[in-house]
This record gives sequence, C-alpha cells and structure tokens, in this order.
Amino acid sequence: MGVFEGMAGLGHEQLVFCRDEAVGLRAIIGIHSTALGPAIGGLRIYNYLDESDAIRDVLRLSRGMTYKAAMAGLDFGGGQAVILGDPSIKDEALLRAFGRHVESLGGRYITAEDMNTTVEDMSWIRRETRWVTGFSQQLGGSGHPARATAWGTYQGIRACLEVVHGSPEVAGRTVAIQGVGAVGYELARYLHEGGARLVVCDISERKVRRVLDELGGEAIDEDDFYGADVDVLAPCAIGGVINRATIPLIRAPIVAGAANNQLDDPEGDARLLAEAGITYAPDYVVNAGGLIQVCGELVGYPVEQAMADAGGIFDTVKRVINRARARGITTAAAADEIAEERIARVTGLRRLGLPGRW
Ligand code: NAD
Repeated sequence: MGVFEGMAGLGHEQLVFCRDEAVGLRAIIGIHSTALGPAIGGLRIYNYLDESDAIRDVLRLSRGMTYKAAMAGLDFGGGQAVILGDPSIKDEALLRAFGRHVESLGGRYITAEDMNTTVEDMSWIRRETRWVTGFSQQLGGSGHPARATAWGTYQGIRACLEVVHGSPEVAGRTVAIQGVGAVGYELARYLHEGGARLVVCDISERKVRRVLDELGGEAIDEDDFYGADVDVLAPCAIGGVINRATIPLIRAPIVAGAANNQLDDPEGDARLLAEAGITYAPDYVVNAGGLIQVCGELVGYPVEQAMADAGGIFDTVKRVINRARARGITTAAAADEIAEERIARVTGLRRLGLPGRW
C-alpha cells in the first residue's frame, strides 16, 4: 500500500520525514488530526524491520492518540513520532536534532516520552523546542505519569464493577494484573488500598516479589493469567494479549487494564469478548490518565488537578458501556463513536468564524 493511501485510509493530515546525516537521525512524525488542538503523542525509538513497518506504526499510533485525547475531553489532537534505529543510538545530539524538527512544525505536534524514551530525554528535546511535555518535577514538570494512568485505570475498573454488579466497590473483589511495572504496580496499590485481593504475574520475578511483599496477594504463571478465576483481568504489560487464542480461556466477567492496544484484532476481538459476555473497558479510555497529566502540564495545571481529571474516567467508562448496551454494539465501537462525535461537534464550531484558542 502506498503512503498516501495509508494516510487516507486512517484519515491523516500530515506525515513528516526527518533526517540529520551527521547525528544519524531518521525520524517520522505523524500528525493524524489537529481538529481539537495540537497533535500530541509520544516519541518512540525502535529498530523497525523496515521503513514501511515504521510508517505503519506511526500511522496507527497517531490515530489512536486522536481518539484517546478526544475521549479524555482534552483540547489536543493525535500525533506520534518514531526514531528508526536501536535505542542505543540515543544521545544528546540525536534528541536535540529531533527537537529541531519538532520546533519546525511550529506547535502542530507536541512530543512526550514513549517506548525507549524517558522523562530525562525530554529535557534534551526541550533545549531545542518548547513543544514537548512530560518533565521531571525537579524541572518544573509533573513527573512520571504512571500514577495518573493507574488512577484512571482503577476508576475504569470500578466503573465496570458498577455496571456489572451494581456497586463499584473493589473490596472483596479479586483482580489479576499482568505486568506490575510502573503502572501495574501503582494499580496494585490502589486496589490493595481499596480492599481488593491481588493476583499478579510478570516476567520479572523481582517485580512480582515486590508486590507480594508490600501488598500481599498471589503470584500466578503467565500462562494461567487468562483463565484465572477472578473478577477482573487487568492487562498492564504489552499489547495484543487479548486475542482469538486467549479469549476462550477467559473466565473473568471484566477485562480492564492499562496496556495499550490490548486487542490483537480491534474489531473482531471486541466482538468475541462481547459474545462471551465479557465487559471490556477500551484500553485507550481507561489508560488516558497519563495523557491527561502531561496535557495538564502544558497548560500549567498542578498534578492534583490531573489526578482529579483522571478520576473522570469512571464516568466515561460507564458512558461507553451504557452506549454499547443501548445500541447493541461493542464497547470498542461505542468509544470510537463518542470520540468521533466530540471531534465532529467541536470542529463544527469553526464554522462560527470566531477565533478560538487553537
Ligand atoms: P513498564 O515497562 O514499567 O511495565 C511493564 C511490565 O510488564 C514490566 O514489569 C514487564 O516486566 C512486564 N511484562 C512484559 N511482558 C510481560 C509478559 N508477557 N507478561 C507479564 N509481564 C510482562 O511499562 P508501564 O509504563 O507500566 O506500561 C505498561 C503498559 O501500559 C504498556 O502497555 C504501556 O503502553 C501502557 N501505558 C502506560 C502509560 C504510562 O503512564 N506509563 C500510559 C498509558 C498506557
């Protein structure tokens, strides 16, 4: 498929190819939509199989950010950047060269951390452009967004419990978490504080041990996660784990976790989950807490405000599930519909001809 065809298929505005021979920079910035505001999205450094693979990733991820931002009620559009190459190529010059390309877009794209980039890397980029967010608190930023992401995910789980059982109480419920890294660990803490019982797995034994030592609960093998006899499955590690092979194993009535792109086949797997009577909280709806925090940082909100806003994910998830039920569609389709409606209605304001902020 040609590049323009790929862009047209997903509705992209712009794809920018950036290079700087001297520092070995090969980067692609995807701007899916600026309908609601500047396109925001992380910078990932990855050794892609080839250029088409990188383009596909940029197109897919930047589109996802449009929906995530719209659904979270933010005035930002969707973007994503990738640097092609092994993460070990990362250094000051490479990041600053990338920052100059971001600056050249005049604020149409705002970058942030993502896979293989860190809060510290953003500081190098900031030397070249102000269109970057997600700094450490020492530098006046809001710090690591994992807590806000976990808080939003916790609220998403509570919303699912309310819809399924009539009460959002986590006390007495059992939640299985796959991946107790930055987000999964914080989620485990919120669940523990709420009185839930934890079942955890991670490829790192050390991380599992930390949860068990600090919060109690039970460790399970990675293979036993899907069939765990629990109230909620919370995937918080990697994408693609909910698929044709794993869905038939699931016994939990709810799947709600922070991992991005949990469904291997977004439409097909959402349908399989619905047919199995499993309530799925769309990943981009529940894991928007971190995005809410870094967007808040851009407009000068304190972290407490971001946490309060991430708490709104409770109502958003309920709205999504209720619409899915009322319309007889999957929760994934209901979320997309709500996001698209907001984008269409707010974009429509431009017809007034009055100046807005963006
Ligand atoms: P992380 O790297 O800190 O944690 C991921 C954990 O998963 C690690 O402990 C890792 O050992 C474990 N893991 C990896 N593969 C596994 C497997 N097959 N089975 C079990 N455990 C496995 O990452 P994170 O920041 O906690 O993010 C977790 C997920 O949430 C990712 O999918 C990420 O894209 C998504 N997410 C994170 C944020 C954020 O604020 N950090 C925001 C939105 C979405």
